[in-house]
Amino acid sequence: MSDAFITNGRIIDPANDIDEVGDLSIANGKIASVNSSRTSRAVQQSQTATVYDAAGLIVTPGLIDMHVHLREPGFEHKETIATGTAAAAAGGFTSIACMANTSPVIDTPEKIEQIYDIASKTAKTNVFPFGSITKNLAGDELTDMRGMYSAGAVGFSDDGVTVMNAALMRDALALSAELGFPIMVHCEEHNLNAGAVMNLGETSRKLGLIGSPNAAEDIIVARDIMLAEMTGGHLHVLHVSTAGAVGLVRQGKLRGVHVTAEACPHHWLLTDTEIEKQGTDAKMHPPLRTQTDIDAVIEGLCDGTIDAIATDHAPHAPEEKKQGMLEAPNGIIGLETCVPLVFTSLVEPGHLTAAEAIAKMTAIPASLLGINRGTLAIGTVGDVTVINPDLVNQVDVTKSRSKSQNTPFSGWKLKGWQAVTLREGREI
Ligand SMILES: [Zn+2]
Repeated sequence: MSDAFITNGRIIDPANDIDEVGDLSIANGKIASVNSSRTSRAVQQSQTATVYDAAGLIVTPGLIDMHVHLREPGFEHKETIATGTAAAAAGGFTSIACMANTSPVIDTPEKIEQIYDIASKTAKTNVFPFGSITKNLAGDELTDMRGMYSAGAVGFSDDGVTVMNAALMRDALALSAELGFPIMVHCEEHNLNAGAVMNLGETSRKLGLIGSPNAAEDIIVARDIMLAEMTGGHLHVLHVSTAGAVGLVRQGKLRGVHVTAEACPHHWLLTDTEIEKQGTDAKMHPPLRTQTDIDAVIEGLCDGTIDAIATDHAPHAPEEKKQGMLEAPNGIIGLETCVPLVFTSLVEPGHLTAAEAIAKMTAIPASLLGINRGTLAIGTVGDVTVINPDLVNQVDVTKSRSKSQNTPFSGWKLKGWQAVTLREGREI
C-alpha cells in the first residue's frame, strides 16, 4: 500500500468515460483523485508519495489479461506464478486470470484456494484463477463449479481442449445462467483437428503437415452459442481465430445471446505462412490462419463483436519447442509484447482509438470476470499502468521475465510500450 502522484498524463479511464490530460493520485493504495488539484496537492506533499512525470504518456487503469497460462503447479520448468506475474508486470498488467490446465488440474475448491495462496506469497500481480469445467479436463464429468465459484474462481474453462460432450456444456452453461459466472471455451472439434499441427490450407499442403480446418473452430462456436441461447448462460469464446467464428459471435449477439469473445495479437498479426519461417514458435491452437481471417478478427475488434484483448501467454521450455513441428507443444508467450503490438497494429493505423483498445484490456475484461478492477474510480484499488505511446523499441526476448522465450515476435520493432506498472500504488 503506497502513495503515488502521477502528473500531466493523458488519463484514459474507459469505465468512467475519461480521456483528458491531468494528474492522478493514489493514497494508501487506493485511487485518491483524478484531476482534482486539492487532493492531488495533499498527496504530492505527503512525504511517502512517489512522483511520476507522465507528460506525453498515457495513464490507464492497471491492465487485465484474462487468458494466461502460469503453469504452476506441475510445469514449473516452463513458468511459475512468480515468473509469469513478473512478466505480466513488465508488460503493464496488474491483474491476470490463469487457466486450469496445470498438473494437477485446478478442478476443486481446494485447488482454487491453493492458487490464491501461492499468489499471495509469490505473485507480482493480482491473480484470478479459473476452475476447469470437467474433472481433470477429461471431458466426461462436471467439476464442483458451485464450490469453486464460492472459493473464488472467476470463471470456468477446459482451455487447451474442447468439451466435446454437448450435454455437459449445456449443464455447465445452465449453472452459469444460475450463478452468473462465464464459461470460457476453447473451440476446436477434436475429430476435425486430430493430428493437426497448423491451419489447413495452401501452406500445410506445401509443407506436408496435417492442418486443422476453420470448420473445426466454427462448428464448436456455433454449437456453444446455441447452448448459451438455450440455457441463458454466459459463453465466452477464447482466442477467436476464424472469420466464421467472428460472424457467428456477431450473429449471436444480434439475437441477444449472452456471448462474448476475445482475440489474441498473433491471430490478427500473423498468417499460417509464419510456420514456414518460424517453425514451432508459430505453432499454437487454434492455429494462425489466413489474411481473410485476420481482416475479420480486426473488423470484429472494431465493431465490438470481439469484446476483449488477451494474450493466451503459453510458455514452453526451449527444449520442448525444439522437438519439431509434430512433437512441440502449442502456444507462445505474450505478456510483454501485448501492449506494443496493440498500439502498433491497432491504435497507430486507426483501427481502434487508444481508449477503445484500453477498454478491451481494462473495463471490459473486469466486467466479464466480475472483478473489482479496470477502473480509476475514486476509492478503488490503485492499480495503474503508464504507457509511452511514442517509444519505439525492438522485442528482445532474452530480456523477458518469463522462464520461456517462445515468441514469433522476436526482433520486431514496435511503437507504444508500457512504462510504469503500479499495483496498489507501488511500482512492480
Ligand atoms: Zn485455448
